Amino acid sequence: MDRKHRNTKWKQTPPPKCDQSVLDENSIKITGVFQKRANVSGHCPYCLGAVTITKDLNLLAARSEATTGQAGGQKKLLVTVQCNCGHSHRGSPDGTLGCGQLWVAEAVK
Ligand SMILES: [Zn+2]
Ligand SMILES: [Zn+2]
Repeated sequence: MDRKHRNTKWKQTPPPKCDQSVLDENSIKITGVFQKRANVSGHCPYCLGAVTITKDLNLLAARSEATTGQAGGQKKLLVTVQCNCGHSHRGSPDGTLGCGQLWVAEAVK
């Protein structure tokens, strides 16, 4: 789906409104040896820029941020990601891309 990018202020606080429908479209693929890598793709729910994020789930992170749980018999995996939409946002340090916002993407295995 095509979305118009919003040039929000970098790391704006409080953050701009999080668009839940955009967040719901985030897709996560778990790959890598021992399934330790997460590929998140979709759009940033804050600035609506397209994002593709690869994140290593090391064992420590697996404990602190990749939470697995049971919900309706499905296993959930939560991955905290930071926007890397490819746009230079207002007020961002030189060479920094993305709006600086963090969100939690959810994969259902
Ligand atoms: Zn952006
Ligand atoms: Zn963003």
